[in-house]
Amino acid sequence: VRIARVDSWRERIALSRPYRIAFQTTDAVELFFVRLADDEGNEGLGSASPSEAVTGESAAACAAALEPGALQWLVGQPGDAARACARSLEHTHAATPAARAAVDVALHDLWARRRGEPLVDALGRVHDALPTSITIGIKGEAETLAEAAEYVGRGFRRLKVKIGGDEDFAARLLRLREAVPADVELRVDANKGLDLPQALQLGRLGERLRLELIEQPLEPARDEELRALPEAVRRRLALDESVLGEQDAARLAAAGLCGAFVVKLMKCGGVGPAMGIAATARAHGLGIMWGCMDESAVSIAAALHAAYAAEATRWLDLDGSLDLARDPAQGGFVVDGGRLRTLPAPGLGARIGDGAGPR
Ligand SMILES: [Mg+2]
Repeated sequence: VRIARVDSWRERIALSRPYRIAFQTTDAVELFFVRLADDEGNEGLGSASPSEAVTGESAAACAAALEPGALQWLVGQPGDAARACARSLEHTHAATPAARAAVDVALHDLWARRRGEPLVDALGRVHDALPTSITIGIKGEAETLAEAAEYVGRGFRRLKVKIGGDEDFAARLLRLREAVPADVELRVDANKGLDLPQALQLGRLGERLRLELIEQPLEPARDEELRALPEAVRRRLALDESVLGEQDAARLAAAGLCGAFVVKLMKCGGVGPAMGIAATARAHGLGIMWGCMDESAVSIAAALHAAYAAEATRWLDLDGSLDLARDPAQGGFVVDGGRLRTLPAPGLGARIGDGAGPR
């Protein structure tokens, strides 16, 4: 059995709730889709959402890597070699991790569909249904409280709040902590937008705020400054922008600077490298939070399947498809009282909706 057909296309999709994080505001995203088929009619779907600010991969570079012509080398590859093909991309597409992730995810979907089981079961399931956080951007106090109330009303019990830049985050976070029920966990993400004095201030507030995680306070180049934080705060640190791929994970795990890594398929290049980072984390006693960009349900589902097959998984932050004004893909996972579940369908359990696809 061989891969018989590859197609790919690009879509610009508005966000139903534009948001601000440190250094940028987002109201629409460029998503890329890859669809493979083998000569027995099995399909594999993948999707990319490049983030130039995080990985340096522009939408144009991702588009070039995923041109239909650039993917024709996949035609004729043995269907059973799907995962080996995905690993080979690390050498040929080093600078375009989101494009690589789209192909890697499509190959993993095809691999699991040929086996007739969900991807998580093909990889080896260890988790069943964990809660995801949902994210509140940088905004005023009243808007923050209103958005938090809405999410809590929808069943979410993990709120991630973006901080950083020039705002006074302390007052806003303290009001939020008072306003939400005690069983709601709060995480913050500074997107490298703090300096060390602010990080120390956040650490001191940690007790009152009962923060579950503090994500990427400083610029990656300043990781070593994190040693100035008390040990109890460092254990709650999750590094995101500092951990692009497997080599970063190995280096930072050995450095002992943090308690967790944020894994995103669009940073590391897909399910294969993500599982490698998760194995490194486990070996060093670190946890993994699975995160995302603004993405289609296709790649969110792939992250979820990988998350539930990794023992180091402790937290999910996979809300990236919930605010797309539309998604060409359907299925992939369900949100059930703030918890995410995979579907009992082969592969990712996602499909391209009727009428959607390349034009
Ligand atoms: Mg982050």
